[in-house]
Amino acid sequence: MVSARPAVAAMPVYRPGRNPADLAREIGVDRAVKLASNEVAFPPLPAVVQAIAATAGETNRYPDNGAVVLTRALAERYGVEPAQVATGCGAVTVCQQLAQAYNDPGSSIAFAWRSFEMYPLLAQVAGARAQQVPLVPGTPGGAADTHDLDGLAAAIDDTTRVVFVCNPNNPTGTAVRRPELERFLDAVPAQTLVVLDEAYREFVTDPDVPDGVELMRGRPNVAVLRTFSKAWGLAGLRVGYLLAEDPAVADAVRRTQVPFSVSSLAQAAAVAALASEPEVRERCAAVATERARLTGALRERGLPVADSQANFVWLPLGERAAEIAAALEARAVITRPFAGEGVRVTVGIPEEDDVFLAALDDVLTSAPVGAAGA
Ligand SMILES: *Cc1c(COP(=O)(O)O)cnc(C)c1O
Repeated sequence: MVSARPAVAAMPVYRPGRNPADLAREIGVDRAVKLASNEVAFPPLPAVVQAIAATAGETNRYPDNGAVVLTRALAERYGVEPAQVATGCGAVTVCQQLAQAYNDPGSSIAFAWRSFEMYPLLAQVAGARAQQVPLVPGTPGGAADTHDLDGLAAAIDDTTRVVFVCNPNNPTGTAVRRPELERFLDAVPAQTLVVLDEAYREFVTDPDVPDGVELMRGRPNVAVLRTFSKAWGLAGLRVGYLLAEDPAVADAVRRTQVPFSVSSLAQAAAVAALASEPEVRERCAAVATERARLTGALRERGLPVADSQANFVWLPLGERAAEIAAALEARAVITRPFAGEGVRVTVGIPEEDDVFLAALDDVLTSAPVGAAGA
């Protein structure tokens, strides 16, 4: 028998959120609401649909391997040189390229926990040690929901090649502010690369949450990871990118890229999305308004929901997380449970969130939070 590497055989199977059409059919309703994967609910931007249609006739050819047009557009948008940009098949693949580029077996990757689920998996595949630093309560006595940057800095040792800081943090939605992040960056040794994972940057409304692209200036061991999957509405096309202060970092990511991994449709769509930024900003503002409404509605129900700077909210339900998510699913609402910790709920359009809130009321009145067994 052919065996996979032990590290790979031991990996948990990734479980994507349930398909809403399948769920609706299974439980016999017209429609299920999916609030599980942090996509935006809006349809693709008109310019994006046009660009995809215009590129369809070229798909007998390989895409531009260097994604030159997209790279130049990103460089211009963020005020960096094209040599500081590396694109990839989703930001997740860029993370994997970073691990391939920087982590020999026996080296380490540091990150907060709980944070983005991919980080421990990347480390495992790379044969690297995962240095996980627990989140701490953002408010006294509250749930553990925010980065412990001093703890993270203290965890870094001479085996640590990469440290991820997910800001805002997935799945808690909390964000670290400028002074603490600057202090952290000053404390990280020059031979450790800090990757600021800003997949949700476009939803940030608090002016004290720093823009990683500004923070990386003058810091050659800092890079910023962004994606077109969330605010820009291209989750189905798979485009992410890295901006690095040191062009050598972008170069290392490019070297580990599987050739042609950003498709021609994805490149054209991303360029069109960037050119539609004012519409994207309006959509993000609508999400932020709805996020405030949803947060308020959840707090009215007695749930201690932290302020989110992303397009999702975190319900710290502890031991009841899996059970409540299953009960919501039975009521045609798909959320993302983290067993024993909490449930992440994407901010939908108001009608979707109302369906979610009604389902949650139904679940909580049949078994209130804090009831026996909680
Ligand atoms: C969604 C997400 C990404 C990006 O995903 P891609 O779709 O692969 O671009 C990266 N980091 C975090 C924290 C995310 O939540």
